[in-house]
Amino acid sequence: QAPQPGPKSACYPPHVLIWPLPALGHVNSMLKLAELLSHAGIKITFLNSEHYHERLVRHSSDVFSRYMNLPGFQFKTITDGLPKHHPQTVDNFHELLNSLASVTPPLLKDMLTDAKSPVHCIISDGLLSFAIDVAKQVGIPIIYFRTVSACAFWAYFCIPEIIDAGELPIKGNEDMDRLIKHVPGMEKFLRCRDLPSFCRAEDPMDMNLQLVVSETRSSVRADGLVLNTFEDLEGPVVSQIRAHFPKIYTIGPLNAHLKARIPENTHSSNSLWEVDRSCIAWLDNQPSKSVIFVSFGSVAVMQRDQLIEFWYGLVNSHKRFLWVIRPDLISGKDGENQIPEELDKATKERGYIAGWVPQEEVLGHKAVGGFLTHCGWNSTLESIVARMPMICWPSFADQQINSRFVDEVWKLGLDMKDLCDRKIVEKMVNELLVERREEFMKSADRMANLAIKSVNEGGSSYCNLDHLINDIRMLSS
Ligand code: UDP
Repeated sequence: QAPQPGPKSACYPPHVLIWPLPALGHVNSMLKLAELLSHAGIKITFLNSEHYHERLVRHSSDVFSRYMNLPGFQFKTITDGLPKHHPQTVDNFHELLNSLASVTPPLLKDMLTDAKSPVHCIISDGLLSFAIDVAKQVGIPIIYFRTVSACAFWAYFCIPEIIDAGELPIKGNEDMDRLIKHVPGMEKFLRCRDLPSFCRAEDPMDMNLQLVVSETRSSVRADGLVLNTFEDLEGPVVSQIRAHFPKIYTIGPLNAHLKARIPENTHSSNSLWEVDRSCIAWLDNQPSKSVIFVSFGSVAVMQRDQLIEFWYGLVNSHKRFLWVIRPDLISGKDGENQIPEELDKATKERGYIAGWVPQEEVLGHKAVGGFLTHCGWNSTLESIVARMPMICWPSFADQQINSRFVDEVWKLGLDMKDLCDRKIVEKMVNELLVERREEFMKSADRMANLAIKSVNEGGSSYCNLDHLINDIRMLSS
């Protein structure tokens, strides 16, 4: 599709600076948006943290060279202000945000006011509110991109009301199934345990919780809000959000949108680790729909005893499995070499373990019949597009609410949150792959068809992306 010239008064081509939070899920989805905008003739500067950029270039050099070859596309790097070996885990998420907030504003300002390459519009991650302050100072429009689901965004947005109503903090384990009444539209099914994980803090003033709430609330100051979702999936929630943010662009699922607009684009996500492609050869030799794919994303960690419970559950289900065990998946290294012999033996017979796989390709493989996932938003969308029913074992942030929606609202799978027991794993794998397969496949097919429809010409996400492109041209004039 040829780039459309903007209105006469607009700068052409507009130059957009895209700035994700340095985390894989954020960078991956914002790169997809960057490519879609670049395809529409917009000049892109993609801003990565130095630390992150280095790892991505090392492990995804093919993807990076592809981006570098897009007309008018460039990468720039910016420091995150943290020491080189800072762990950058979820627990110290506030350290990353605070550090970015303290060191990057003057650097960003210099970039935005560089007369040699004027920036006309910023699309920043919706967790970087200090970018709004800088954008307002230099008079450049700013659009937010929030990489979480609309349901998670809406729950974050409502947290001050939930706290005011005395619904938080949660009073121990026995309180977890209490319904939350102050997230409009979710009164009938949202339990304490389904709220984003930061809400589990005993103190409502917890730093991570307060940060994510204030960042979410500050979104109203942006000139627009982009969400990686689609109307047939989250329309009712998006309507609630629209009452506060009139300018919302739902343009997802971005992975499907990219394929719809740029069919020749066949690349997979970026990596922080070496991709192990040998798993595809293993999958090629398995019967159709026989394998459960297990992956907990790029950040989630588990204890060693939890890993063993999952392992027994998978082995005892007697199903085949492909499991991504990242080098840093297990927290604590005690007894790392003592995998019980029976597990080892069964894994050699019908399992495959890899450090990092091309996930979208795996989900689309004919041998895969189900996905045991942590319900990160990208994984959830990738699973929906691949018509893959899910077992959800959420770990942190938005994953708790995503998994509730997968099970209770969209009927796309089973929510296993807060349980880690080999018997439950075994039971759910069999339900997903055998006993309730037909029921889940029906919902999965229906939702995948709606996802594909939304990103094809005339679909809601397709039209919303066109609106976004036109608005960028207008804002840049
Ligand atoms: N991913 C991958 N290979 C793997 C595991 C994950 O390419 O072995 C990708 C996956 O396709 C997704 C991203 O990593 O795009 C994980 O993002 P998500 O939002 O699901 O979870 P997060 O890592 O942010 O917790």
